[in-house]
Amino acid sequence: MKIATYYNNAKSAFSFVFDDGCYKESTLDAYENLKEVYEKTGVKIKITSAQTVGFLHEGLIDMWKKLISEGYADICGHSIDHCLCYNDVTDPTLLHKDAKETKEKLEAIYNTPVIAYVTPGGGSNQAGWDILKEYYYANRNGNDRLNDTYNMNLYDIGTFTARFAYDEKPYIENIEKTIEDGGWCVQMNHWLSKKEQDTHHAQKYETFLPEIMYLAEQVNKNNVWACSLNEMVKYIYLRDNSTLVVNKTEKGTEITLKTDLPTDIFNIPVSLIVENSVECVDIYANETIII
Ligand SMILES: [Zn+2]
Repeated sequence: MKIATYYNNAKSAFSFVFDDGCYKESTLDAYENLKEVYEKTGVKIKITSAQTVGFLHEGLIDMWKKLISEGYADICGHSIDHCLCYNDVTDPTLLHKDAKETKEKLEAIYNTPVIAYVTPGGGSNQAGWDILKEYYYANRNGNDRLNDTYNMNLYDIGTFTARFAYDEKPYIENIEKTIEDGGWCVQMNHWLSKKEQDTHHAQKYETFLPEIMYLAEQVNKNNVWACSLNEMVKYIYLRDNSTLVVNKTEKGTEITLKTDLPTDIFNIPVSLIVENSVECVDIYANETIII
């Protein structure tokens, strides 16, 4: 008996992170697409919004609260003002202040633990990661890389940057590559655009719906787990920092997932692969189940 690499023993995993948290109309368009995919396929894709505190205002916060409450989004930190770089630690007090205040302010606004960070401006280095470790469980960087969740630095999570493309082909190919490799892809988005000059940071609007529709079809084949960045971070920590205690009893096999991780934060199930069974079994931190 063991904990599956990914939830439901899927072959691979895929996450979307939308940076900055401030592209309202584009976000609402993406939300309509996510809803359409859910209605057609039954797959609810939850994106992670990396939020810059200084970019937020009441209308944006209300929009994100609605998306969060409907299960289409969760959040992580993306600095106070988007001006710092975590690969320049000349003045570490500035970075400590940014990491701490970003977390505290977002937690106060959304009333939820903020466990992950996304470094603004792409880069960060070991000294930056050491600071982030005091406040967060993980950090996404700008490096173009597919992640092997057993051999990775959780403070240097690689990403696939969604750039302007005329059709959905590069996005679909990236999902295919993720499934083939069995890795975890984190796609970095900013906004959805109709303008060709947005070549670097934006994904063409018409390519998003076919991409997520394809992803949902692959989810239904269990080729991929579509999870938020936060869900995967929690899954990896639980998978790699828990012990399975197994006892045969009169009622059946009693299994406890023992961990010292805080259960108020690590509140998602992991999947157990049980011998002689094709179905996985869900178990939460410090929960005991009988099978
Ligand atoms: Zn940004």
